[in-house]
Amino acid sequence: MINSINSSKQGSIKGWFPRGLVDSAKDILFAPVTSEGLCPLQLHWDIGRVTKIEVIQNYREHSLKLLLPRLIEPHSHIDKSFTWKEFPNLQGTYEEALKVNLREHENRTPEIVRSRSEKALKLALANGLRSIRSHIDSFGLSGTHSWQVITDLKHEWKDFIELQCVALVPLEYWGTQEGHLLANKVARSEGLLGGVLVPPFHKQDSYKSLVDLFHLANRVNCGIDIHIDESAKFPAAGIKQLIKALDHMEVNVPITCSHSSSMSLLSSREVRYLANRLASHNVGVIALPLTNNWLLGRQERETPVKRPLAPIKQLQEAGVNVAIGGDNLQDPWFPLGNLDPISLMSSSMSLIQLPPWERLGLSPYTTSAAAIMGLEWDCTIKCGSPANFVILDASSWSECLSIIPRRQHIINGDFFDENMSLVKPQLEIF
Ligand SMILES: [Zn+2]
Repeated sequence: MINSINSSKQGSIKGWFPRGLVDSAKDILFAPVTSEGLCPLQLHWDIGRVTKIEVIQNYREHSLKLLLPRLIEPHSHIDKSFTWKEFPNLQGTYEEALKVNLREHENRTPEIVRSRSEKALKLALANGLRSIRSHIDSFGLSGTHSWQVITDLKHEWKDFIELQCVALVPLEYWGTQEGHLLANKVARSEGLLGGVLVPPFHKQDSYKSLVDLFHLANRVNCGIDIHIDESAKFPAAGIKQLIKALDHMEVNVPITCSHSSSMSLLSSREVRYLANRLASHNVGVIALPLTNNWLLGRQERETPVKRPLAPIKQLQEAGVNVAIGGDNLQDPWFPLGNLDPISLMSSSMSLIQLPPWERLGLSPYTTSAAAIMGLEWDCTIKCGSPANFVILDASSWSECLSIIPRRQHIINGDFFDENMSLVKPQLEIF
């Protein structure tokens, strides 16, 4: 772990920065722009905050690299990270993942959870992440231990990574006395209430569990993020119950639906209707294309051509905030994953047909992810924004997403190399 850093220094960096992430158009009037929407900018800062945004007119005289705000992972599971090797799910089904996950649970100790979560955080930092929302299996004694370990890590890492913790328990647990005690604990560590609503389920029971959860979240003032409709069956069954519950009561905390995958199996008209209803209730959606494409819709001897995945574009069109997350990290649910936002963009781009040079292609990894997570900084730059950047050894989006480049970091105005060692400030890196 790196010690806290004094961010009293002035500094600046040159690079290709996405035009869509500059807060005010006035700052980039007459700026050259590449076909991928990148502007050559020099960003200046003092005491860890941006003080000036300067357009580099003679950019051809420089060898500029891609410059991004430090990024966000809105949906992870660091407590079960790196467990694939010991607990593989070779069939690759949802049902088998659940079984293997339960077996892995029997072997959890606080030390193991701490070790794998720390490894995940180090990897995330070196990959350019500044904020992670992680769901934590929080049921029973091992859940109590995990919650303690991860909230300790949240405190230890706060200067480098903002960690949001979601207590993941069976949905009906929030209606019990133990659930209420857990919610109080979650509130004390500024976490969120989580759960799973995946069919087949009993409609009335699930509706009641959602209502209980909403009342509790209102009382303890915690946001909600639930795994919903991570399925290839009963399209949007969970979302429909959620909307019904929201129609009958007022919820005063942010609500996020993670996955919402089976919704895309509905007709266009139904998708549009539900997307509008989600927007009217101000519900955010986190799409998780990699795990969905790996786990869902499997059929023996057939390669599925129709894939359950949150209908990202229709949701955006309706005004829903949509983020994209990496979800699992080499665990029974998904054998790959590396907490690398660039690798996630690269793998997702062809699955979702949304490239980062489009505004709605970049927002799920930046502004929308920040909005769903309620982060103080929305990833856009203006005077006063945090000097938090990642510099990638590539000069365009296409190159960056093809090679998964080396990277260096500016954290609150300090420069770090790819090994996360403090280095001397440089105007151009690599
Ligand atoms: Zn998940």
